[in-house]
Amino acid sequence: MGMSVLEAIAARRPFRLGEVEAEPDGAEGWVVRGPDGGEPRQVEAEGSAIRAAVRFDALGRYRPLSGARGMPGGWFVRCRSREELEQVLETVYPLALVHIRQHSEGTLRVVGLDAVLRRQTGRYEVAAELSEEGRRLAVASVCGACVRVPVWAGRLPKEPESIPCPEPCSVFVSFCREAAIWEREGAVPGRDDPSVPFADFEAEGNALRNAYLRARAAAPAGEQR
Ligand code: SF4
Repeated sequence: MGMSVLEAIAARRPFRLGEVEAEPDGAEGWVVRGPDGGEPRQVEAEGSAIRAAVRFDALGRYRPLSGARGMPGGWFVRCRSREELEQVLETVYPLALVHIRQHSEGTLRVVGLDAVLRRQTGRYEVAAELSEEGRRLAVASVCGACVRVPVWAGRLPKEPESIPCPEPCSVFVSFCREAAIWEREGAVPGRDDPSVPFADFEAEGNALRNAYLRARAAAPAGEQR
């Protein structure tokens, strides 16, 4: 494993975090770049401008999962100081630096899926009914589409740019809700529709829904409930 993100920041060395790259700029500054794509355009080092660059996809749809792969590209931000760099990273990937530090110090507070699903109420209560196999496939599908590494599911952040994830997020919980209902109803995969938003799991054209249902259909019968 190479230099960690925290070490790279302290040593003023280029690094990657999730899908962004940062490199020192001048004596104290930094440049943060999103993925390649389109004409390079500068974005102010300011929360709402950065959110506008990363929280909406090319079709203008809100991206509810900050770690979702496929972040819009082409943007870059100039930061005047380390503090500004850390603020920009916090906006792009909330709590990432905190979780990286806690993970390296052994103080990351990890909460498992069972505990999170058991405390759901109302329309999310049904999520707790999702089978073990369903849970495993949900991790593969949903967390597989996210740059964070689900430490709560026993995964280890192996790359320096990996961001440890300590607890199932709300997008994952809402996927579990739908997956429990699909189990009950014997849902089958549909055809992917690229216009369906990332987390609109109820829509038949949702890519994650279909990836999950295809994996489920391929799983040996004995592993299904
Ligand atoms: S639970 Fe999975 S999808 Fe949600 S933030 Fe963590 S790793 Fe990403």
